[in-house]
Amino acid sequence: MRSREGEMARRAVYPGSFDPATYGHIDIIRRGLKMFDELVVAVASNPQKDTLFSVEERIRFIREGLDDEPRVQVESFEGLLVNYVRSRGAGVIVRGLRAVSDFEYEFQMALMNRSLAESVETVFMMPSEQYSYLSSRLVKEVAAYGGDVSGLVPPSVLRGLEEKFGRIQREGRNR
Ligand code: ADP
Repeated sequence: MRSREGEMARRAVYPGSFDPATYGHIDIIRRGLKMFDELVVAVASNPQKDTLFSVEERIRFIREGLDDEPRVQVESFEGLLVNYVRSRGAGVIVRGLRAVSDFEYEFQMALMNRSLAESVETVFMMPSEQYSYLSSRLVKEVAAYGGDVSGLVPPSVLRGLEEKFGRIQREGRNR
């Protein structure tokens, strides 16, 4: 029988805004699946935060971007992250680390979460180099001006961006 501690270590939560999901997020999810049996992708539904896409759209984009990976659950969450993590029976928070610029904020947040819940660990994962400069904010900025982001986001996100901003010029990438 599995010990309680072992049980908790096998499910992790990957939280974020995912507004919208990019191939960088998908890369982290796939890497997370190498370490954990199950990953709960937790999409923040913070009514105070202005997002381009609704929480339902953001969830759908991640699901479609993953092709129904059975070991991933995509849900919305609100409130204190550590409470949500414990309520889902997980003991680990996964976050992506792209560059030094991510570090300070992520470090603060990880230590804050630790002071709130000693038993919850934060694990950082690095994406593939090609996604290490990629952010949802940049994707939205480029798409707003009609720039080609087709190699950076799943097809469903591309369609969502086109619905918001109009047609995006494809530069004939091989994706
Ligand atoms: P948040 O508002 O919580 O930062 P994001 O959706 O921007 O939400 O990011 C969620 C997590 O995914 C964060 O840990 C962030 O560092 C990570 N992340 C975002 N983009 C990438 C990327 N291109 N490669 C790796 N990790 C990423």
